[in-house]
Amino acid sequence: MRILVTGGAGFLGSHLCEKLLEQGHEVVCVDNLFTGRKDNLLPFLNNPRFEFVRHDVVDPFKAEVDRIYNLACPASPVHYQHNAIKTIKTSVMGAINSLGLAKRTGARILQASTSEVYGDPQVHPQPESYWGNVNPIGIRSCYDEGKRVAETLFFDYHRMNGVDIRLVRIFNTYGPRMLANDGRVVSNFIVQALKGEDITIYGDGSQTRSFCYVDDLIEAFVKMMEQTQTTGPVNIGNPGEFTMLELAQLVIKLTGTKSKITHKPLPADDPKQRRPDISLAKKIINWEPKISLEEGLAKTIEYFKKTDL
Ligand code: NAD
Ligand code: UDP
Repeated sequence: MRILVTGGAGFLGSHLCEKLLEQGHEVVCVDNLFTGRKDNLLPFLNNPRFEFVRHDVVDPFKAEVDRIYNLACPASPVHYQHNAIKTIKTSVMGAINSLGLAKRTGARILQASTSEVYGDPQVHPQPESYWGNVNPIGIRSCYDEGKRVAETLFFDYHRMNGVDIRLVRIFNTYGPRMLANDGRVVSNFIVQALKGEDITIYGDGSQTRSFCYVDDLIEAFVKMMEQTQTTGPVNIGNPGEFTMLELAQLVIKLTGTKSKITHKPLPADDPKQRRPDISLAKKIINWEPKISLEEGLAKTIEYFKKTDL
């Protein structure tokens, strides 16, 4: 198949492109290189089945493709808050342009949605049936509400135009090819530990997240795209739940660093807890993550050790 990946030069997108090329497909990557970079594409840039197009998804684009994975959108709070208006435009206009393309070509299209659609959840763990608790006017809203509107657009294009959609809600995912200055917690802690700097916990560190290693997530992505039982939404993530204090202690243990923990103010609207209910993914695509946090962190630490920090 010929497959379009928007946001293909980013952390998840580049792993997805690599996996699809391994499977023998042609891959077109569309990315404006805001948080993505060509370095992520180096392992397969010379593959004749791979094409990179520098383009911003807020503007329409054309391609003849069989599948579209829509990943274009900065995912780290630091980067998505840098230009909040641009972030919401990327989610909304990017979804409209990608869905228009899917409608014209008949391509099946998968949206990379997020656990952020649940906001600061009052139901724990979060099943797909939960509608969420999202602040519409806060500093995280450009991302959360942008992704929620994208979900709405996906279902309206499906109902009104018969577009063949798939929707996955990704919970915190980490691994090699995250930027050293990405700003998300796993890369921050590892980079700080390797540099011997203080490890910055925001708030008291009792808030929880569930961390999925990238290889597990990419496997679920492709399985969800190729199954024909459901449009989704389907949660994809690792149900292991850790406080940020536990994460910091694990990074300290695995790196052997002398770094000390320091506390910084908790950003507004920071969700207190987050853990996916993955019963649906187990049932539909027979998937559950295989890589533990300790194993995944060790692989990510090895990656960052080889990186110019
Ligand atoms: P990332 O920031 O590494 O990748 C995003 C990519 O999109 C980058 O390559 C960036 O340059 C590109 N991009 C941003 N704005 C664009 C625009 N206007 N036009 C074209 N390209 C643009 O983040 P990631 O972690 O790889 O996330 C990929 C997708 O998965 C995002 O949509 C994100 O919301 C979603 N997601 C990720 C996680 C996670 O934990 N990694 C969790 C939930 C959802
Ligand atoms: N966090 C932290 N220190 C950091 C970066 C993040 O304690 O250097 C916290 C952040 O406040 C949040 C959690 O780690 O509670 C996860 O943050 P991240 O930005 O990775 O993702 P998200 O909040 O979107 O889940």
